[in-house]
Amino acid sequence: MGNGSEIAVSKATLSRLPAYLRYLKGEAGKGVEYVSSAVVARDMGYSAVGVRKDLALASSVPGKPGVGFEVRRLIADVEKFLGYHSWTDAVVVGAGGLGRAILSYDGFENYGIHVVAAFDVSPSKVGAVGGKPVYPMERLPEIVRRNGVRVGILTVPRGAAQSACEEMVRAGITAILNFAPVYLNVPDGVTVKYEDLAVSLASLCGETPVSE
Ligand code: NAD
Repeated sequence: MGNGSEIAVSKATLSRLPAYLRYLKGEAGKGVEYVSSAVVARDMGYSAVGVRKDLALASSVPGKPGVGFEVRRLIADVEKFLGYHSWTDAVVVGAGGLGRAILSYDGFENYGIHVVAAFDVSPSKVGAVGGKPVYPMERLPEIVRRNGVRVGILTVPRGAAQSACEEMVRAGITAILNFAPVYLNVPDGVTVKYEDLAVSLASLCGETPVSE
């Protein structure tokens, strides 16, 4: 058993790319053909250095000196980078409060990810949420295999997380976004990312000056 590996692109960069896309599409809609990183930075309130770094990551085409990036080309590159042309299907395991919220959230589409279905051990959770099916857990292998799903979002209680994770891996899931507050033991070749709102909140509080 080994640990999950890290994805190279930072969360912060990934979260900014859809915002660049919206901005660039707005500019294209106004007939703007070229845009410099300095102008993007000014309009979006980011640093010019940060914008240059972000865009260099998504696009291999350098901006023309004095003119900037070709807007349409940049849009195509950012869309490709975000996977808009190669959708990734994902499933949710555990359709409780958090799992159902994830099923109802359409923001994953901005990153080329379709959350296609959820699974739960409790018959009372089976049905549909946000127009997406919730299946009994026994159907996980069949549906994951049939659709070639590789990504799973784990939202079961702490005590069920390891066994649910093992069921996901047996079904063919190779990348897990784990919300349960527990370390998962996974075989080599399976990536786990841990998501914890409490950690984000704590780090935010750590950055916020305490008033007297
Ligand atoms: P919940 O109790 O509402 O939902 C859990 C669901 O998992 C239930 O529907 C239950 O039937 C199902 N379940 C239990 N065992 C299962 C199994 N083996 N296979 C499939 N389904 C199973 O809980 P919740 O509030 O949605 O929280 C879910 C998890 O997310 C918990 O571990 C919680 O601690 C965690 N959580 C994490 C964060 C975070 O920021 N990381 C935030 C909120 C909740």
